Formats: sequence, C-alpha cells, structure tokens
Amino acid sequence: MKRALVTGGAGFLGSNLCDLLLDRGLQVVCMDNLITGNVGNIEHLAGNPNFKFIKQDVTEYIFLPGPLDYIFHFASPASPIDYLELPIQTLKVGSLGTHKTLGLAKAKNATFLLASTSEVYGDPLIHPQTEDYWGNVNPIGPRGVYDEAKRFAEAITMAYHRFHGVNTRIVRIFNTFGPRMRAHDGRVVPAFICQALENKPITVFGDGSQTRSFCYVSDLLEGIYKLALSEETDPVNIGNPREMTVSQFAELIVNLTGSTSEIEYHPLPVDDPKIRQPNIEKAGRILGWEPIVKLEEGLGNTIEWFKKFTS
Ligand code: UDP
Repeated sequence: MKRALVTGGAGFLGSNLCDLLLDRGLQVVCMDNLITGNVGNIEHLAGNPNFKFIKQDVTEYIFLPGPLDYIFHFASPASPIDYLELPIQTLKVGSLGTHKTLGLAKAKNATFLLASTSEVYGDPLIHPQTEDYWGNVNPIGPRGVYDEAKRFAEAITMAYHRFHGVNTRIVRIFNTFGPRMRAHDGRVVPAFICQALENKPITVFGDGSQTRSFCYVSDLLEGIYKLALSEETDPVNIGNPREMTVSQFAELIVNLTGSTSEIEYHPLPVDDPKIRQPNIEKAGRILGWEPIVKLEEGLGNTIEWFKKFTS
C-alpha cells in the first residue's frame, strides 16, 4: 500500500483530499495544527486503520517514522480574511513549512506536491492566466503575505527538484468551492450562500465587476490526483474556466437559494484582483483533465452543506 502525508489535512481541500486518497487505496497521514482546519472535517475517518491524524504545526521539525510515497503540502490559511488575521503564520507555513516538508520528501524519497495558487499571478495583466505568466504581485500589500509565501514555496520546490533531485509537482489552484468550507472564512462562496440562506444583505465588494472562475472541489482534486501520478514538474493550473463577475455570482446565489436578500455594496479590499480565469489547456494536454461538474450542480451541493450552519 502507498502511504501519503497530507499537510493541512483537516482543512477544506486537505480533508477532501484525504477522503479521495483513502478511496484510491492509499494510507493517509493527516497533519494539521487546526488554526484554520477543523477536526470535524476528518472525524468520520476516526477508527479507519488506514488513516492517522497528527496535530502538528508543519513549520516545526517533522518526525514521521515509516516509509512515505507522497507528500501533499496543503497547509496554509487560504482566505483573504485568514491571512489578514494570521499574516506571520501564513508567511511561515509557505516558507518554513514548505522547507520542512520538502526535507521530509527528500529523506523519504517521496513525491512532493505543492498546493500553490492563482494568487501567484497577483492582479493579472494577462488574461486568462497561463502557467508561463510571471504575475503582478504587490509584495508589501495585505495579500502579499500569502502571494509571496506561495511564490517562495514554488521557488524552493523547484530548488529541491533541481538541486536535490526531489520528485516535485506544483498545482496552481484557482477559486474552488464545496462542502467543508468554513461558513465564516470570508470567501465569496460561503459568504454569499450563508447571507442568502439567512435572507441577509449580500455583501458585494467594490462595484462587483471583478471576475472569478469557480471550480467544484471534486473536479479540482481529480486534477491534482492526476498531476501527482504524472511526470510534470513545472506548475499546472487547475480550475474551472467559466468566468463571471462577482455581481453575476451574487444573482446566481440568490436565484439558487430562492432568497429575498438584497445586494449591498462594500469597499473593495486592497489589491483585490480585477480578473481571474485559468487557462487549463496544459492540464488538458498533459493530464487529460477537465472539470465536469456544472457550477449550478456544485453550488446545489454546497448550499445543502451550508444549510446545516444557518438558521
Ligand atoms: N467578495 C465579495 N463579497 C464578499 C466576499 C468576497 O464581493 O463577501 C469578492 C472579493 O472582493 C473578490 C471575490 O469576491 O473580488 C472573491 O473573493 P474571495 O475572498 O472568495 O477570494 P479571492 O478570489 O479574492 O482570493
């Protein structure tokens, strides 16, 4: 049996990844310090002999006996509100945490997969974003703690690959949604769904003309799993290219929930990217992957999930 470590394994993406890997017949070690992760996301795995949870901050030395075939480094605060509240932890997990987990990959001869982000493109001047675009990032803005940590994480991953011969993968994850997102993590999908379910105002930031492209979690993880099994060491975008404005997204959520919520306009956060859409030609060509879940269907599942947390 292959054995994988998932850092950030109690988070939204990490916990769904633990489920996928267990389903595909791997043993899974989940590591999380629970600052934004939640044991509720993995409690259904308690007692599974192929699953083990270790509460640890991955910026500290990682002692893990036994063989390891894969490391999926997903630990990081991941919503703009989280990295405003946890700027140092965000910088540390992307830098020191990536260093520690790469060291572990080298020691165990494990394949290392870095969860990178479309934020490496910053407020992009190229649209849609292709992997060869170097980005437009403000290093000293409030989002810089995340963007630069992930850019450093990509740089050190490539250095371990080139200098130490570690087998590495880099996925650039675009906006993803689905069950197990935190109701109050501040990201647009949980924010609008919870507001709509409670018939409260929908908080559109700016004039709502900024765009995003939303990928359902199962599609994203299928792409990441394929990337892990591939030989591709350069970054690969994974996301859904269906782009819309935040205003259109607000209307869609109101319609899908049958809500009476009105739109309320708030100031645009600093450095909020004006446009974002993945070019996924490379993922299609190299991995034979493309998203298959329709936005409305994925949102339906996600709305059902959030009904548990709203009154
Ligand atoms: N947004 C919004 N209202 C909210 C939360 C977010 O209008 O209550 C906007 C935000 O300004 C951004 C987009 O929705 O333009 C996506 O924000 P999110 O926090 O989900 O992640 P981002 O894509 O910016 O990393």
